Amino acid sequence: MNNTSDAPDRTGMILILSGPSGSGKSSIYKAAIGGLGGIEFSVSCTTRQPRPGEVDGRDYYFISREKFDSLVAENAFAEHAEVHGNCYGTLKSELLGRIQRGIDVLLDIDVQGAAQLRALCSDSTEFCEACEFIFIMPPSFEELERRLRARGTETEESILRRLANAKGEMDHAHEYDHIIVNDDLAHAAKEFTDLILGLRNHPKRRRIV
Ligand code: ADP
Ligand code: 5GP
Repeated sequence: MNNTSDAPDRTGMILILSGPSGSGKSSIYKAAIGGLGGIEFSVSCTTRQPRPGEVDGRDYYFISREKFDSLVAENAFAEHAEVHGNCYGTLKSELLGRIQRGIDVLLDIDVQGAAQLRALCSDSTEFCEACEFIFIMPPSFEELERRLRARGTETEESILRRLANAKGEMDHAHEYDHIIVNDDLAHAAKEFTDLILGLRNHPKRRRIV
């Protein structure tokens, strides 16, 4: 902060990251987030089962379908969608307080959820200015399949479903503000870091004091 009030120097950004399952979204942000500071991950709700090593409240809020439906009824989600046969949603409470405090929030969400947030942009200039849409592309479909299999987290059925959905998801890449091709991970993570640093310094984000 360098102004005289308690207000942050700028409103935080809502960084919306999408890409097919296995494209490397979580690898990229985990490699980049530590070095950036001032950025927090939006923990989504999901009805899918935790993978080995995933922690409730850190990776996701793992909830029942009944609980998910009650949160939808309460209008608690900024966006929500069914993806690869499970429900996922971003709680409003993950976003607004943080950006008002000048903290950037990172969302790992699918193309349907991103489209819902893009639609909200037409209702609010403030919200629109906070959002940046980033798409992570695999270098090829064959490499995507190799990585998804090598990750070893999915059943064969889940792998096939995720690959079947990948082509349709990649058709939406042009709707995003930025596209990063994840060929070499270190290179993609640097590109992601440099992008965020550049966006933070963009004149439209600076508070005029
Ligand atoms: P997503 O979060 O998009 O589903 P992950 O980050 O889990 O994807 O990456 C899928 C798999 O591919 C993981 O096993 C990860 O270690 C591996 N991976 C990610 N990026 C690369 C890369 N650039 N080169 C090789 N393997 C990668
Ligand atoms: P996974 O099961 O591999 O963790 O995630 C599957 C897909 O769900 C990914 O494309 C991921 O981006 C998406 N996803 C995760 N959380 C959310 C969310 O809150 N909303 C939406 N719409 N998609 C999500």
